[in-house]
Amino acid sequence: MFLRTLHAVSDTEILCVETDGPAATQALAEAISATLADGDLLVLTGDLGAGKTCFTQGLGRGLGVDDRITSPTFTLVATHEGRLRLNHLDVYRLDNLGETLDLDLPDLLEDGVTVVEWGELIDAVLPEQRLLVELRFAEGLDRDDDYRLIRFDLTGSAWERRRAALIAATESWRASC
Ligand code: ADP
Ligand code: MG
Repeated sequence: MFLRTLHAVSDTEILCVETDGPAATQALAEAISATLADGDLLVLTGDLGAGKTCFTQGLGRGLGVDDRITSPTFTLVATHEGRLRLNHLDVYRLDNLGETLDLDLPDLLEDGVTVVEWGELIDAVLPEQRLLVELRFAEGLDRDDDYRLIRFDLTGSAWERRRAALIAATESWRASC
């Protein structure tokens, strides 16, 4: 039991940052993109307008994607070619988990970096190894409207190995958790 607890603690690592506007969120994501590798999964969670698509745009820029990136709310998935392929999903309108079968997730996840907006809604069908990115409005804090609090939760050995790289990449935006 004790060992299992230790394992659970070392399996999850949390980093927090804050950004003061969309440009900063994009710059943050661009910095993170340098640490990404083929097969990576990023689960983006946060209310409408929190900045999930904005973050993905920064990732795209860092991955050398030339396409304009928008929320694929109706198409569910958009694929963009870059240094690594960017698979961008928005599952907000997915009616049931069965529909995820149509997305051919295993194939998508194999090739490129996969970003899932509202990914927590299909948590059950996503691999455990992931970078969870939680974006929040800075409500109630002494911040203006363009501030966002962003929390990264690293799960799995692939992300743990990159913990130091992620800490370095996000240093300019560091906040306490
Ligand atoms: P989501 O995909 O989470 O619904 P979007 O990225 O589409 O959100 O929209 C975020 C909106 O909030 C954009 O209009 C953006 O300009 C604005 N915004 C203001 N401050 C920030 C910030 N710090 N980070 C990201 N977006 C911000
Ligand atoms: Mg969006």
